[in-house]
Amino acid sequence: RAKAQGKASYKVFDPAMYQEAIQLLEIENDLRRAIERGELIIYYQPIIALNTGQIAGFEALVRWQHPVRGLMAPTEFIPIAEETGLINDLDIWVLQSACQQLRIWQEHPDIPKNLTMSVNLSARLFTQAHLITQIDQIINDTKVNPKNLELEITESVIMENTHVVRSIIEEIKQRNIKLVMDDFGTGYSSLSYIHSLPLDSLKIDKSFITRMQFYQDNLGLVPTIISIAKSMNMTVIAEGVETQEQIVKLRSLNCDFAQGYLFSQALQPEAVIDFIASMPRW
Ligand code: C2E
Ligand code: MG
Ligand code: MG
Ligand code: MG
Repeated sequence: RAKAQGKASYKVFDPAMYQEAIQLLEIENDLRRAIERGELIIYYQPIIALNTGQIAGFEALVRWQHPVRGLMAPTEFIPIAEETGLINDLDIWVLQSACQQLRIWQEHPDIPKNLTMSVNLSARLFTQAHLITQIDQIINDTKVNPKNLELEITESVIMENTHVVRSIIEEIKQRNIKLVMDDFGTGYSSLSYIHSLPLDSLKIDKSFITRMQFYQDNLGLVPTIISIAKSMNMTVIAEGVETQEQIVKLRSLNCDFAQGYLFSQALQPEAVIDFIASMPRW
C-alpha cells in the first residue's frame, strides 16, 4: 500500500518512528493512571557522612512498576512526565510518600535519629507559587521536621530567575528546609548567581567523580568545586561514588557526604533496615 502511494508517503509512515511515537503515547496514557493505581514506588539510596562513615540520610528515587513493561527507571518516564505536566502530581506524590517513610523510620528503634530525606523536584514545579501550599500541607500531614528535609533542584530551576522562582526559594528557606543544587557542574549558571541563592549544599555530578584520575593527582574539577562550595559555606555531596580510591581522595578534599554504588544502590524500604544493620560502626 505504501508503494502504491509513492516514495514520499512511504517515508512519512516510517514504521520505526511510528512505533516509537505510539510507544510514547502509550507510556503517557499509562502514566496518567500510574499514581492512582499505586504503580509508582520509591527506592532510597543511602547518603554517607565521610567524617564518620555513618549514614546521614537518603535520596528518594522514583521507579515505575509497569504492569507490562516491568520496573522502569526514572529516565524512561520523567522526561515524558515533564513534557505533559504530569510531573507536578508525580513529584508531589514522591515528596508526600518520602516524608511518610522518613517519619516511620524516625520512630524505628534500629534507625538513627535525624537522618535526612532528599527529594528531587523538577524545574517545572518552581514556576507555581502553589508549590509552597503543597509543601506546607505535606509537612503538616506527615509531621516531619522540615530541617530533615532536603529538596534537590537543578540549575535549570534557577536559570529561570523569575520572581516566582525567587519567592518560592525564599519561602522554602523560611521553613528551614534545605536546598541542594543537584548535578552541579553540568549546567551553565554563573558562580555569582549561585552565590546569591540561599543554597545549603552542592551535589557534584557523577560525571566529575567518574573522571577523577588518581595518577599524578589529576582530579579534574572536583577539588575546585569543593573549595568553591566551602568558600560559600555550603556542604558538598559527591554523587556516583563507586571506588575506594574516590572515597580516599574525597575525604582528603574535605568532601562532606557521598552516595554511590560503593556503599549502596537505591534500596526498597525493607532493605534499608538491613543495610543500616550491616553498616560498620566506627
Ligand atoms: P539524580 O537525582 O542525579 O540521582 C542520582 C542517580 O544516579 C540515580 O539514578 C541513582 O540511582 C544513580 N546512581 C547513584 N549512585 C550511582 C553509582 O555509583 N553509579 C551509577 N552508575 N549510578 C548511580 P536513577 O534512580 O535512575 O534516577 C535518575 C534521575 O531521575 C535522577 O538523577 C533524577 O534527576 C531523576 N529522578 C529520580 N526520581 C525523581 C523524582 O521523584 N522526581 C524527579 N523530578 N526526578 C527524579
Ligand atoms: Mg538527585
Ligand atoms: Mg544528582
Ligand atoms: Mg546526576
